[in-house]
Amino acid sequence: MPEDESAEQGPSSRLPSDGLQLRTAGAWPPFVGGGQRRCSFCGRREGSARHLVRSRDAYICDECVDLAAEAIAAAPPDAKSLRIRRPAPARSDPGATEEEIERVFETAIGGDTSDDERMELIEGGSNLGTTLELIRQRLPPDQRADSYVEYVRMLSEDEAEVHFVLVYPGGPTAPRFPFAGHAVLSDGHWKVSRETWCRLIGTIGIPCPPPPA
Ligand SMILES: [Zn+2]
Repeated sequence: MPEDESAEQGPSSRLPSDGLQLRTAGAWPPFVGGGQRRCSFCGRREGSARHLVRSRDAYICDECVDLAAEAIAAAPPDAKSLRIRRPAPARSDPGATEEEIERVFETAIGGDTSDDERMELIEGGSNLGTTLELIRQRLPPDQRADSYVEYVRMLSEDEAEVHFVLVYPGGPTAPRFPFAGHAVLSDGHWKVSRETWCRLIGTIGIPCPPPPA
């Protein structure tokens, strides 16, 4: 009987609740933290890999195992350190997807977006209205951050890793917090993954309700 690993995935138990202290990307391992298990090499989630092999706190997917085996077979005998790069997923519209994901993140996180529009841009966002209300209660308007996407890296046809910065009001000396999360293709639209949203608001102590059924 396989061991039950669900207990070690609960993101809510890891969220800080110490007021306004924000976690930066440095405190969050972008490939293994925040819930879903991912390949430590290519970043793909468990659901998009055929197999995910685990040892200690690292994971590797079947495709990265194959790439590593090829690299080892082709390496000169004295080569110690080898590097693999997983090929980017093939797409018909290179660039357009990244632009759309950038727009979705910068609209859903920060800015003057309406609650309805924000919920529409977050995966399973229909029951997140209460979290938006809590954000308003915690943060006065002049303390709300804007977000700027720094880069988008496609992981598969329906998922991308998104690195963005939260910029707080106050001009060039205002605090900036780097953050990493995921975009997912949900019902034909790119959205901020619910996991990313919940982790983000968790940094200011706001809990997420369970996903809508
Ligand atoms: Zn991999």
